[in-house]
Amino acid sequence: MPNIVVLGAGVSGLTCALLLSKQKGNAVTVVAKHMPGDYDIEYTSPWAGANVLPMALDHDSRWERRTWPELRRLAAEVPEAGLHVQTARVLRRQADVAADLVKAALGDGGLFDLSPWYREVMGRFRDIPPSELPPGMHSGCEFTSVCINTAIYLPWLVGQCAKHGVRFRRAVLKHVSEAAGMSHTGQKADIVVNASGLLACKLGGVMDSRVYPARGQIVLVRNEADGIMPTTSGCDDGFDELVYVMQRALGGGTVLGGTYQRGNWDPNPDPNIAMRIMKRAVETHPELTGGKGVEGLDIIRHGVGLRPAREGGVRIEKEMIDGTWVVHNYGHAGWGYQGSYGCAERVVELVDEIVGKTKRASKL
Ligand code: FAD
Repeated sequence: MPNIVVLGAGVSGLTCALLLSKQKGNAVTVVAKHMPGDYDIEYTSPWAGANVLPMALDHDSRWERRTWPELRRLAAEVPEAGLHVQTARVLRRQADVAADLVKAALGDGGLFDLSPWYREVMGRFRDIPPSELPPGMHSGCEFTSVCINTAIYLPWLVGQCAKHGVRFRRAVLKHVSEAAGMSHTGQKADIVVNASGLLACKLGGVMDSRVYPARGQIVLVRNEADGIMPTTSGCDDGFDELVYVMQRALGGGTVLGGTYQRGNWDPNPDPNIAMRIMKRAVETHPELTGGKGVEGLDIIRHGVGLRPAREGGVRIEKEMIDGTWVVHNYGHAGWGYQGSYGCAERVVELVDEIVGKTKRASKL
């Protein structure tokens, strides 16, 4: 019986735990410093919007391609998971296209490509005709997406895991190999899944110096948006500021964003940035306040989350550390939700490879 400890209870760890627990015979324990319900600067997942705006380049799109059908299914068939269908609108500014800057936004991905790979994947994809473009926009597209209320979705994942026999433990680990001794079975784990997010840069045995924060500041408001989630290729307020608005399912409020500040660890909301975020949001979405401007916004909270970015991209691979197999799954930057099932599937494949190998080795 493979005995697996998943280190981390963010969207990456929980999705891995869920898929692993659905496989017969796996005994799965999740160990984490932070769990759903906590809000902490070291714990990224609760701070996400979150929606699906495909960000990868085509050659790297496996994770998002594989995740989209499951998120769409959850939105359509499992209302208690906290997702709902919304229309995404991606706008390329004339200035960014002219300066060949569209690729620079949101981590050098393919979101703003003129002919994106995801046109074949996302439902109801359409190029926006010039007559419908806002002033200053070169081009744009729309497609069916979802918005995830993370305050509902993360506890829902915990519930699904529990239903499949996963056990949960709180602990702060100094070294990844400590996880091997934390299985609820009392036996040493055969495999540790390392889903430690940003803290992979500080975790003993891993200490990945390529991992860095991409700081995201948001404002959560009670005002309602119109079911459209727009995002633009840049904004006049600076290269590391973003424009996006998304209304969360089930009364979760509307998220106004944002920033993508590489290497910035500041956990405190900056009031000047917050004001710029709100101004931009009421410009793109006047219906938020019925034309009353920023004063009409009803603020629930200001927030900051640190996206776990990584030079060279996500790390999903196996490694033997101190005599235990570790399968890494961290470094998802700004796409941890929209790539969650694709990455977790790969983790399951790697676990299967290891278990196969271990079985063969013990037969010899
Ligand atoms: P985390 O959620 O940080 O979880 C890490 C886990 O590991 C925690 O449980 C932590 O306690 C545990 N851990 C780490 N080290 C230790 C240790 N030593 N001992 C014990 N436990 C440990 N993604 C999208 O897909 N769509 C979006 O629209 C989107 N919007 C975003 C907006 C913002 C403002 C931000 C900040 C992020 C956004 N993201 C979005 C990105 C997404 O939130 C992240 O990619 C994702 O949450 C990363 O999840 P994770 O599970 O890898 O890490």
